[in-house]
Amino acid sequence: MKKLACVTLDMEPDYGDPEKKIRLLEDPKYFERYVSTINKYGAKVTMFTVTSLFDTHGSLFQKLAERIPLEFSVHSHTHDPHNACSLEEVQNSQAAYEKFTGAKPLGYRAPIGQIDKDGLGHLLDHGFTYDASVYTSFRPGKFGYNNLHIPNTPFQITRNDGKSLVEFPFTSIETIRIVFALSYAKLFGWGIYSLLLKMFGLPSIALLLSHPYDFYFGSIPSNTIEGFEAFAMARNTGREFDIFEKTLATLCSQGYEFVHLSEVYEQIKSNKLELFEVENWK
Ligand SMILES: [Zn+2]
Repeated sequence: MKKLACVTLDMEPDYGDPEKKIRLLEDPKYFERYVSTINKYGAKVTMFTVTSLFDTHGSLFQKLAERIPLEFSVHSHTHDPHNACSLEEVQNSQAAYEKFTGAKPLGYRAPIGQIDKDGLGHLLDHGFTYDASVYTSFRPGKFGYNNLHIPNTPFQITRNDGKSLVEFPFTSIETIRIVFALSYAKLFGWGIYSLLLKMFGLPSIALLLSHPYDFYFGSIPSNTIEGFEAFAMARNTGREFDIFEKTLATLCSQGYEFVHLSEVYEQIKSNKLELFEVENWK
């Protein structure tokens, strides 16, 4: 099977920033570096967007769309982890997306992987064709999960009324199940992370996870995040774009073709995927 890579960018305000800026779009030095890096490798970006930002940041999104191959998708309406995929969030995000783009959204990504059975039901009711919210790894703590039993490749979630959607789980490095994400590459450092990529590899469909603040978290003034989380997220400050570039270069050298997530969906929708019944979703 052809190897397909998809750069996903979860568009939301900078994490822990009291000013709630999105410096990747607002600061020309980050914006230009991002644009040139994406274009240098012929990458394509699927931007899971917090849809309440269409009103406030719509013109900045358009500016980005004029410079790189960009497709929009949905990352909830308000990015409330306690209300990640409620009926209201699904309906409001669908309406805001449609107002901004003129089309119905195909996909949904819940904040911090907080999708559940009810949320999947709302997505099926509202005609979403895919979800991209399930981690295949383990995370301790408040928003923790143990999803080591979830496949590391797309699968199908079905319902007894015949409706179904494709789940694109967050890609992990095979076997060791470390998330394929810019934040993790920064945390481990490129030396170790690239070694893990080489030793264990990625599945033939690979989604790279990134956020605007992954490119400069350690440089956000007066950040409110503290303790170990702040330490972990600020690792390799100043090297973020280099690590991102090396990640894209690695995908190219391993023979991946960059595509939008909607293109992956088109290519696999008629394949026989592993089936999960929503009725039995935990
Ligand atoms: Zn998010």
